[in-house]
Amino acid sequence: MHEPWIEGRFEEGVVTTTVEQAINWARQSSIWPMTFGLACCAIEMMAAGAGRFDMDRFGAGAFRATPRQADLMIVAGTVTYKMASRVRRLYNLMPDPKFVIAMGACTVGGGPYFKYGYHVVKGVDLVVPVDVYVPGCPPRPEALLEGLMRIQDKINGHRIAKNGSGKLNDELPIPHHSGYVSAPADGEPMREHQKVTS
Ligand code: SF4
Repeated sequence: MHEPWIEGRFEEGVVTTTVEQAINWARQSSIWPMTFGLACCAIEMMAAGAGRFDMDRFGAGAFRATPRQADLMIVAGTVTYKMASRVRRLYNLMPDPKFVIAMGACTVGGGPYFKYGYHVVKGVDLVVPVDVYVPGCPPRPEALLEGLMRIQDKINGHRIAKNGSGKLNDELPIPHHSGYVSAPADGEPMREHQKVTS
């Protein structure tokens, strides 16, 4: 984990709020995804980057060929156990702050391979921390763009000033038109299939 560059070094104030807005605006308008695809969902990701859907409108069209220059990992496709360690290694090589979109049913939870796919990881969130899930098999490019906008929301909620306790005050705003789910009251995990069994 890298030391934060500017976050948490200053008290709340007019200057920090203004600088924060400028930094967040710059960051959310210049997301660089990694050039990286694992299966059929990657074709939809490529479509999202091409002329008709044009991810460049969001400043996110500069797909980088190295994780060291990327701040968004779009995991597009089936994650096999063989590939999982590579996915983690690529994630570790990305500089902070970094974000992950799990694109497609395979990546979200195993997808069509959930029951009989002995070789498929049942959700890439077992491998890297996921910020936004985009369901579908495959999701359409519009769905990926929606996920990208939710990542922009998250960047927008980033706070660089300390909060009262002196800790980082990094909030994820609730998406303004996607709704949200409440955690179950009994405290059970929401994704039963991700319980680790030995
Ligand atoms: S979710 Fe469907 S389209 Fe995407 S990688 Fe899996 S099988 Fe392919």
